[in-house]
Amino acid sequence: MTQRLCFAAQPAVTVTIQDSDARFPVHRIFCVGRNYHAHAAEMGVTVDKATTQPFYFNKHPSTIAESGSDIAYPPETSNYHFEMELVVALRAGGFGVSKAEAIDLVYGYAAGLDMTRRDLQQRAKDHAHPWDLGKDFEQAAIISPLVIKPEGAPLLQQGAIALSVNQSVKQSSNLSLMIWSVAELISDLSRYYRLLPGDLIYTGTPEGVGPVLPGDSLKGHIEGVGQVVANITAPAA
Ligand code: MN
Repeated sequence: MTQRLCFAAQPAVTVTIQDSDARFPVHRIFCVGRNYHAHAAEMGVTVDKATTQPFYFNKHPSTIAESGSDIAYPPETSNYHFEMELVVALRAGGFGVSKAEAIDLVYGYAAGLDMTRRDLQQRAKDHAHPWDLGKDFEQAAIISPLVIKPEGAPLLQQGAIALSVNQSVKQSSNLSLMIWSVAELISDLSRYYRLLPGDLIYTGTPEGVGPVLPGDSLKGHIEGVGQVVANITAPAA
């Protein structure tokens, strides 16, 4: 028996899968804070892997916007930034997963943009407040179609990652420069959360982040994964 709802529930959030008529149902979105030394440096911090652990923040699944979407310039910011990232999509759950087991959880990958209201994030840092206003807002998790990891293929450990604004290259790096690998991130996250199918992990951005304005066109690419595009439009009414 279906329960009567007092109003219509918001629709489930799903993502396109390349070469498939199925769609990927999104459960949670985890984002890694600092996972490339050069990006940490441009944010004014250094990361010593020997003495620190990765840290995370979350975006609500409703913040997903698919590649090709018009992205409205968000409210209450004047420093709206792109962060080009590899996204890992989980097909299976796990808790206390070892690095060796992590591969069994991976469904595939996407090219993603962790859009950020940098001024609000900085204000939060200055006041030791949470980052939510800087990170978790409508259309802040842009994502390409998912590419399924072939059975038996190892986890991605290298490949060019790049982002252009209006055809001018702003970010250009390699996945091999990630401080914590995909396997290490899954293993570490699974200490804190019982990971589930549908979870997405935005794995952090390389250096070169910067602002965009209405009218700008973003195009990101990850070797072996694909392309994410977004057009920034005027603020929504
Ligand atoms: Mn990021």
